[in-house]
Amino acid sequence: MSGIATGDTAHAQAVQLPLIPASGKQEPAGDTAAVTSQEPLERLSLTRHLHTCNHNVPSQCVSVADVAARYRRVDAIIIENHNDYQPPVVAAPPDGPLVLPGKESATPIHSRQHPLALQHAGILGVDAVQQRTLKITMTEPTAVTLQKVHRAGGDLVYNHPEYPYIQTAGSSARALAYTVPTDEAKLFDAVELFNDAGFKGGNPANVLRWVEQNFYNQGVFPAIVAGQDDHGPAPISAHPTYTLAMVHHRREADIMEAIRARHTFVSKSLDAQLAMSMDGKSTWERNGPVVPGQHRFSTSLSGLPEGAVIEIVRSGEVIGRTVAKDGHGELSLSLDVPAANKRADYLYVRVWTSPGQLHTVGSAVPLNAG
Ligand SMILES: [Zn+2]
Ligand SMILES: [Zn+2]
Repeated sequence: MSGIATGDTAHAQAVQLPLIPASGKQEPAGDTAAVTSQEPLERLSLTRHLHTCNHNVPSQCVSVADVAARYRRVDAIIIENHNDYQPPVVAAPPDGPLVLPGKESATPIHSRQHPLALQHAGILGVDAVQQRTLKITMTEPTAVTLQKVHRAGGDLVYNHPEYPYIQTAGSSARALAYTVPTDEAKLFDAVELFNDAGFKGGNPANVLRWVEQNFYNQGVFPAIVAGQDDHGPAPISAHPTYTLAMVHHRREADIMEAIRARHTFVSKSLDAQLAMSMDGKSTWERNGPVVPGQHRFSTSLSGLPEGAVIEIVRSGEVIGRTVAKDGHGELSLSLDVPAANKRADYLYVRVWTSPGQLHTVGSAVPLNAG
């Protein structure tokens, strides 16, 4: 694929995609696809990485119910207090979001070689009761924690990569200079690309480049998620970012599964929709790498700001670009996936509102790995 497919040619070739993948199975799935259910896929909005307390000021705490009320427009929230699970049963407003337990663990993932020594990891889908059974501790190796978390049906998230746990250690640039060993990268189900705390002036565009270098280029494809990082009484941002997960059922196990299958995207718009298809089949329905040969990749987005720029990125290079009109945009292009391809090959969709300002980013679609 040489050159960039522009909006005009792309529109001419665009196929009509449902904004939410259609109900029912279209065709028998290939051997690399995961068939999870006959239920139609739906888009579930998630606000995660919420702290009920300001950990520096213990008196500044709010109830889980208050946090749930704050985010009543989303479908689900995940509480992640520092090294502490919330009780799994909480009183959420009747029409409020599903409230799920999680915790933010200070985990020694950056053992030995990393000067920052510790990084925060989000543990999702494991409650306090399970934690007691599994005996998860913050001093054990991350690989051991991950094994336990997975056994309990949970997921591990690399939280705010631009911000190290040891705050005095320095800047976002220094944190992102860290090279993640492949063995370490493979431990994570997801990376938090947007963090509303915006630590140390960190920019998600820089984090995205870091994810490409440290994960995708090593053939490791974690899901992309967002995190609020509220700490107690007030929301950290008036304009939170959201994790959107494609699920068959609105329940915890399906959210965890969507993250593991990287059937997620992140957006600054709660209304954002992202559909992607390979040869007419929704990528939210499949998991494995694409077989060598010619393929057609199409994407359709809506709920975007006027003039937003949509790009398809393949292995670090922009191969398609269009501008959203009336909040909507589509791109379609052909892909040649070579049989013998040594480099990591993947694509993903991203949206800019202005240079350097990411608005929406989809999890990667691996073309020859993952
Ligand atoms: Zn943190
Ligand atoms: Zn946090």
